[in-house]
Amino acid sequence: MGSTERIKNVAARVAKWHDAGHQIVVVPSAMSGETNRLIGLAKEIMAQPDPRELDMIASTGEQVSVGLLAMALLAIGKDAVSYTGWQAGIRTDSSFTKARIQSIDDTRVRGDLANGKIVIITGFQGMDDDGNISTLGRGGSDTSAVAIAAALKADECLIYTDVDGVYTTDPRVVDEARRLSKITFEEMLELASLGSKVLQTRSVEFAGNYQVPTRVLSSLTDPLMPLADEAKSGTLISFEEESNMEQAVISGIAFNRDEAKITVLGVPDKPGVAFHILGPIADANIEVDMIIQNQSVDGKTDFTFTVPRGDYVRAMTVLEGNKEQLGATKVLGDAKVSKVSAVGVGMRSHVGVASQMFRTLSEEGINIQMISTSEIKISVLIDEKYMELAVRALHKAFNLEQG
Ligand code: ASP
Ligand code: MG
Repeated sequence: MGSTERIKNVAARVAKWHDAGHQIVVVPSAMSGETNRLIGLAKEIMAQPDPRELDMIASTGEQVSVGLLAMALLAIGKDAVSYTGWQAGIRTDSSFTKARIQSIDDTRVRGDLANGKIVIITGFQGMDDDGNISTLGRGGSDTSAVAIAAALKADECLIYTDVDGVYTTDPRVVDEARRLSKITFEEMLELASLGSKVLQTRSVEFAGNYQVPTRVLSSLTDPLMPLADEAKSGTLISFEEESNMEQAVISGIAFNRDEAKITVLGVPDKPGVAFHILGPIADANIEVDMIIQNQSVDGKTDFTFTVPRGDYVRAMTVLEGNKEQLGATKVLGDAKVSKVSAVGVGMRSHVGVASQMFRTLSEEGINIQMISTSEIKISVLIDEKYMELAVRALHKAFNLEQG
């Protein structure tokens, strides 16, 4: 919601659903740019803001949104009421700035809904057991919405956003990228954690754990478009896999530029190597993604792993400090790598997906530096300068433009 004009638009859309006989809970995010502005203010005072106080500040963007939206509804004659996270019974743990929802006491909200009210609840925030305000991490209003939908056993959770659904890949990279009308929750989870920014990963986990049918759709359409069309638009995250053999083997190609690779050369191949290399990295709160350890030669081995690019310098410093102790000959790093992944539940029933992927990359002359797989995903790490080429070639090789 970028302006009060847009808030009036949202009110019109919500009123349309309510007029059609639905009970509605709305979970808005802050107005565009507002959370960044608030965090910026905090940083002007304290370079590393105190997390509890930061949440006190960052959570206010949503409080403004819910009040404005409730007023916009009242102004058009709808009965609406707004609540903060804590007023709506949203309990979280105390990990400020990245809290997790633990429970929702929806008594008050259910009462309002039964009385015909439209209920508006702040996204992104809750309260811990000691009564402190907490926030759920950037993009957390997605998670609030899905969690509230789960608690209320809603028929569907509609996530209105600035894209009109989930695509086979980023349309800014591949012109032929196609919107998927449906995707399984497992695929969506992979895509979210692999770098597609459509939904916060945790919201997809919630949708999966509580089987909340969730639809991603555009907030930019005419708010008065026919409800039947709107209800079918966007992408539905579903829980059944099509038994239909025609279904594409691969649903999407994801990519992530935010990768860096670190190689520790010539460490003794003995119990504890991985632990001694990665333990200090974990202690520094750096997340490790792909890992490979080579076959040893003369009792020595090489160990390679990836970290988020933003943590690269810190990770290198940790390892340089540990090099002697590890008995490593050298620590090498490369922060110019990207991860490209093919995702699809169809991989479970089809062989040859990996070889098709590797053939396509080899035909483009792209060298694969690391590979990792899960049941429904194959990821490769490549030089970042070939990332877009790889995504386009794979999108084509798996016929994703045709659907
Ligand atoms: N306002 C919060 C943020 O900007 C939450 C959200 O938008 O989902 O991250
Ligand atoms: Mg958001």
